[in-house]
Amino acid sequence: MTDYVGGGREMRPGTVSLVGAGPGDPELLTVKARRLLEEADAVLYDSLVSEAIRELPPASVERIDVGKRGDGERTTQAAINGLMVRRAAAGDDLVRLKSGDPCVFGRGGEEAEHLAAAGIPVEVVPGITSAIAGPELIGVPATHRDHASSLTVVTGHDDPTKTEGALDWDALAGSVTAGGTLVILMGVGRLPDNMGALRAGGVDPETPVAVVERASRPDEFAVTGTVETITDRAREVGIDPPAVTVVGDVVSVRDRVADALRAAGTARPPGGADDPAVPTE
Ligand code: SAH
Repeated sequence: MTDYVGGGREMRPGTVSLVGAGPGDPELLTVKARRLLEEADAVLYDSLVSEAIRELPPASVERIDVGKRGDGERTTQAAINGLMVRRAAAGDDLVRLKSGDPCVFGRGGEEAEHLAAAGIPVEVVPGITSAIAGPELIGVPATHRDHASSLTVVTGHDDPTKTEGALDWDALAGSVTAGGTLVILMGVGRLPDNMGALRAGGVDPETPVAVVERASRPDEFAVTGTVETITDRAREVGIDPPAVTVVGDVVSVRDRVADALRAAGTARPPGGADDPAVPTE
């Protein structure tokens, strides 16, 4: 793309679109995301973007996996920023494709700042975050007039016992006790610590919890339990990342809607024989 200014020739930069891919099912992409995937010069995607969505761009669109390098290491954020600035400055329109929503634990905000500082036009295309889609797809609403009037989304990755941690687990426990919904992303590894922190903060051990792995993908998998039991349940059924944990009374709604979801064909395979909400076929 070139622009002629006076007698000289100036390159007009391309646009970088920070696009949310949703949780994985291509039908959960926005119409705009789908269009941009077809029109971009190149798509840079993260490791959590589903295979089904990676395959959507036509052959004319260059696909760049910035989730992993050849040696299995992640491409550094600095390298991704540098690549985007270089390619956009050379006139390419880029899609920076991220799982879920680009700005929910997706560094979309940081990348927008970096691109803006470099003088690159940037737009954000919101996506369906796994924080909401994960629970919702297994019959757990984020809010409900009888159960929850607030929704808190946190990273479970930080060590809850470290004193300088950004998260106040006592406050989070308080929000659950007050009837709020707590959604934990990146929380599989620290599930025992995080459930322990909630109990230490006064959450009733009987409070229901669900963990949803690979939400919206063909191998979606869910398990339910309580703040007290979910760690063992998740271990028994072999929950692995990526998974979303949802804590709160809203989880009980699943018992009342799971059969209907299954009848509609939207519920995926059950969360193991020990999951009474969705019996094994
Ligand atoms: N921007 C993403 C979150 C990225 S952080 C979003 O809005 O969804 C990565 C975490 O997201 C994972 O550790 C997991 O907790 C969650 N996640 C992403 N995709 C998921 C999926 N399909 N099913 C369950 N959890 C998912």
